[in-house]
Amino acid sequence: MTNSYSGACACRAIQYECTAEPAFSWKCHCRDCQRASGSMLCPVMYVPKTALTITGQAKYYEVKAESGNAVRRGFCSNCGCPVFIDAELVPDLMGIWAGSLDDPNQFSAQVEVWTSSAQSWTCLEPDLDKFSHAPTSEQMAKILS
Ligand SMILES: [Zn+2]
Ligand SMILES: [Zn+2]
Repeated sequence: MTNSYSGACACRAIQYECTAEPAFSWKCHCRDCQRASGSMLCPVMYVPKTALTITGQAKYYEVKAESGNAVRRGFCSNCGCPVFIDAELVPDLMGIWAGSLDDPNQFSAQVEVWTSSAQSWTCLEPDLDKFSHAPTSEQMAKILS
């Protein structure tokens, strides 16, 4: 049985629904994610764009990841809530910030990435594999399998 996932920004001007399981999910401790969240990390799950229906218009800005890949971050221009991550690395997938889910308990991370920039006041899950930087393409293939 496939779960469906729904969520919204804080003011609900942007809403989404997804009818497929995430391809992968992780917690990212990179500085970009810390800045984008105003917090310690980004809990994100990547779902197939073909299974994602978005209502409302997210505003996007582009940053270059340290890998050189472009990452477009989508947020609500009314409430400022970060909702989407459109990463060049995985063009068929859309990242969804777990905090925007109607039921955030649907999220569980597979791994933690960029732990080299994790803050001393963050929380790392002891059972998860950790990558000090971005996963290599080999490690990425394993995460996706
Ligand atoms: Zn909003
Ligand atoms: Zn990140």
